[in-house]
Amino acid sequence: MRLNESQTSGGDLLDIEICLDEVLDGRELSSEEATALLSVTAPEDIERIRDASDRLRRQLVGEPVTYVINRNINFTNICEQHCSFCAFRRDAGAEGAYWLDEAAIVEKATDAAECGATEICMQGGLNPEATVDGSALRYYLRLVETIKTQLPAIHLHAFSPQEIQFIARQDNLTFATVIRQLKQVGVDSMPGTAAEVLVPEVRRILCPEKLSAREWIDVVSTAHQLGMPVTCTMLGGQIESMADRARHFDILRTLQQRSLAEGDTGFTEFILLPYVGELAPKKLRNQVGRDQPMLQDSLLTMAVARLFMGKWIPNHQPSWVKLGLDGAATALNWGCNDIGGTLMEEHITSMAGAQGGTGPTVEDLRGAIASVGRPAQQRTTLYEPVTEIVSV
Ligand code: SF4
Repeated sequence: MRLNESQTSGGDLLDIEICLDEVLDGRELSSEEATALLSVTAPEDIERIRDASDRLRRQLVGEPVTYVINRNINFTNICEQHCSFCAFRRDAGAEGAYWLDEAAIVEKATDAAECGATEICMQGGLNPEATVDGSALRYYLRLVETIKTQLPAIHLHAFSPQEIQFIARQDNLTFATVIRQLKQVGVDSMPGTAAEVLVPEVRRILCPEKLSAREWIDVVSTAHQLGMPVTCTMLGGQIESMADRARHFDILRTLQQRSLAEGDTGFTEFILLPYVGELAPKKLRNQVGRDQPMLQDSLLTMAVARLFMGKWIPNHQPSWVKLGLDGAATALNWGCNDIGGTLMEEHITSMAGAQGGTGPTVEDLRGAIASVGRPAQQRTTLYEPVTEIVSV
């Protein structure tokens, strides 16, 4: 089918079949083409895109679906910011506010290691009181040292670009100084959260206090230059347009191309984080007009992301927290090759009313993978195999 002119640039018609065939042959999608693909509504066109994303996934990474055994630790929900989608944050002293001490963090991390976790994923709110001798960086360094002293072999996937910017701002340091010091004491990789949608007009509504799109790019580029792998994400399905999604994809792909050309580390994976608004602040929730993600919209977005990122970002993960395990399993037929981690606990999205639960077992993850007839393989955070491939 050919899409109408308003859906492509320069008034050209986009022939979806030709376009998808070319992408499978290695041509890169343009932002305008991605916008057009994200906008299709005819079931036969949606199926063509799904099929192409599935074929490209098979071409690039094969059949196995990977998973990681990890534990999520959100060490505090006290946060100075007020993102319009966030149900997690609290003011200090408010009902539901918490701030874990070192003993609680060590207990959670040790418990996770005993359950076979290879990774601790740690992020938290931006708590201005979190300092040691007046320094935010010293507080974060101590957090890392606390875990790494107990569990030197565990992979620590920690601190979003927003947290890096917060530490740098609090202590008047450069991003490079913060990342370098965190890396030295044991941060092994960083979650590429806080990206939301890297379009200033969207950020003004979603997260006006957050680091800017430019700063997010600067933090991530700096991390890549310093040898720190980072994931990348998009908070989709709120007020952004299809063109905004395509622009976000373009920023991520360009950044990845630049980082890899320089011989730096890059993005390890792309994760779509669909908006969940059930318990989130009302203003944005009313603007969006629904409480839970639209599965079909998320699936199409993941398929187009796979096609757009091509060989540059080979690993794509759906969020079972947002979509539920069944939704995440369905996404494995829409370009995804990884089902994420056990997490063991999750607060940020579950406090927004997500229905995905907070801690599937390894058997649950493998069951979801088997439900789509694909083999499973445990991986490390950086996609190295931990176990043999287990066929269904
Ligand atoms: S999303 Fe993060 S930075 Fe924004 S209010 Fe919530 S905890 Fe704070």
